[in-house]
Amino acid sequence: MKSQKIVILGGGTAGWMAANMMAKSWADKAIEITVVESSSIGIIGVGEGSTPQFKGFMDYLGISEAQWMPACNATYKNGIRFIDWSTKTGFSSYFHPFPAQPDDYSAPAFFHNSFVRRKAIDVEGHPDHFFLATHLANTNKSPIAAQNFPFEINYGYHFDSSLLGEFLAREAEKRNVKHIDATISDVRKHVNGDIAALVTSQGVEIAGDIFVDCSGFKSLLLQQALDVGFESFGNNLFNDAAVVLATKQGDIIRSETQSVARKYGWSWHIPLTNRTGNGYVYSQRYCDRDQAETELRAALGLLDSDVEARHIKMKVGQVKTHWKNNCIAVGLSQGFIEPLEATALHIVQETVQSFIECYQEAGFTDGNRDKHNHSIATRYQAIRDYIVAHYRVNSRTDTQYWLDNANNNNLSRSLFNVLQTWVSGNNLSDELARQNIDQYYPSVSWHCLLAGYGVYPDQAQLKPGNALAKQYNIEKIEDYLRRCGLNFKAHRLELDALASTFHK
Ligand SMILES: Cc1cc2nc3c(=O)[nH]c(=O)nc-3n(C[C@H](O)[C@H](O)[C@H](O)COP(=O)(O)OP(=O)(O)OC[C@H]3O[C@@H](n4cnc5c(N)ncnc54)[C@H](O)[C@@H]3O)c2cc1C
Repeated sequence: MKSQKIVILGGGTAGWMAANMMAKSWADKAIEITVVESSSIGIIGVGEGSTPQFKGFMDYLGISEAQWMPACNATYKNGIRFIDWSTKTGFSSYFHPFPAQPDDYSAPAFFHNSFVRRKAIDVEGHPDHFFLATHLANTNKSPIAAQNFPFEINYGYHFDSSLLGEFLAREAEKRNVKHIDATISDVRKHVNGDIAALVTSQGVEIAGDIFVDCSGFKSLLLQQALDVGFESFGNNLFNDAAVVLATKQGDIIRSETQSVARKYGWSWHIPLTNRTGNGYVYSQRYCDRDQAETELRAALGLLDSDVEARHIKMKVGQVKTHWKNNCIAVGLSQGFIEPLEATALHIVQETVQSFIECYQEAGFTDGNRDKHNHSIATRYQAIRDYIVAHYRVNSRTDTQYWLDNANNNNLSRSLFNVLQTWVSGNNLSDELARQNIDQYYPSVSWHCLLAGYGVYPDQAQLKPGNALAKQYNIEKIEDYLRRCGLNFKAHRLELDALASTFHK
């Protein structure tokens, strides 16, 4: 193999994740990796929640939690609590838990009950009674189990994205990744359309064989230089802006993200060790930036405070081709599906992993480009549909925003079939498997979402069930989860223990 030069444009989270994964995967190959970023442009600086996949990223790099978490003010995340998305009695909030092995005992009861409840039988159909992660979040515990509780527990993280970027930059440097601080103002191409070099504002050329576009929403290489089109998801994901504000951290650090429905969107509340990150994601079609900022400030009790708010515009959708010629896009440059389930870094990781596999399998040529493009585009569509479902099944009537979301029929055939299966009382797991989309969001996530909103026959229609319908005892399940929970420490204690190791 001849030596290869990979040039990554962008030093946000996407750029440094890509640099580290490639440098680790190809440590024994003649591959030189350079990250070019502009300190005068900076990074987007939001993106503070992850899925469990992120643990796999750090594990792959051989970086322990004690090494990175305290450096990034990071906390543990058992899942996401959705508040005020539904107006159905008894369903004003629900928790979307990350999976845990002990759920194998309790989850069948939830699947059974939610199935039976859809047949209008009066059994407990709210997801919050059945999952270990929900119990841990309710009791502010970390997801790190004691040694004598040898079960697999999945969890995510919250972190300061700027500190994470700096941490990953230092790690990349240890892996011999080169770093250039420069603003790119032009791109030189070969006659076949491949990118030959990036040209800095000082006129210096940075040549390469492969270019990774991590330049954020502006997508300088893929969308601008290579003219790849963008497919907007705006007709079924209305939110296109956010306002962000930090608040002080209290004594208790929650081990969950909170996602609270508001008049024209929703707000996230992400606990870090030193502060809580808050952001209101809204649609500019329904509300302007001042209204959004005022609503968020009022919710946080900051109407009279001079804490500065940051406003961000979002471009929601995906590029029509994620890898064209010798350029792949990673991060915001390839697309974004609003942050409701904190999936962006998950997609970054999947994209880089897919590229590494495809590029390597094809003998370090672009032979597997179509395979990569197909797999990433399909993932975007599947994640988009799961997010769209949150809006489509809402029952709020307080603003036109929520009414329009509930009446929005711009659904993919896949999502239409999923919702149809649920409301007609059929087996949802079978439908997800038939469509092969349970690899993106598992059946339990879809069940939690639809049951958590109370998408069931009305209370007045419910009939008493027989012994078969009521075969699971909720008190016993809750007691089981409580006793499992005895094997976990308070979240703050676990974080303090990590911090003390870090400072040594
Ligand atoms: C409101 C909001 C909330 C979010 N919440 C989450 C979340 O909870 N979880 C999650 O996983 N993701 C979230 N995301 C997404 C997450 O922020 C991004 O996926 C992540 O930060 C990666 O961004 P990036 O590296 O692609 O882009 P950026 O951070 O924008 O980095 C772009 C890089 O390109 C460089 N650059 C640009 N132009 C030039 C140029 N001309 N010359 C040189 N360098 C250049 C910049 O200097 C910078 O280094 C959120 C996004 C938004 C908008």
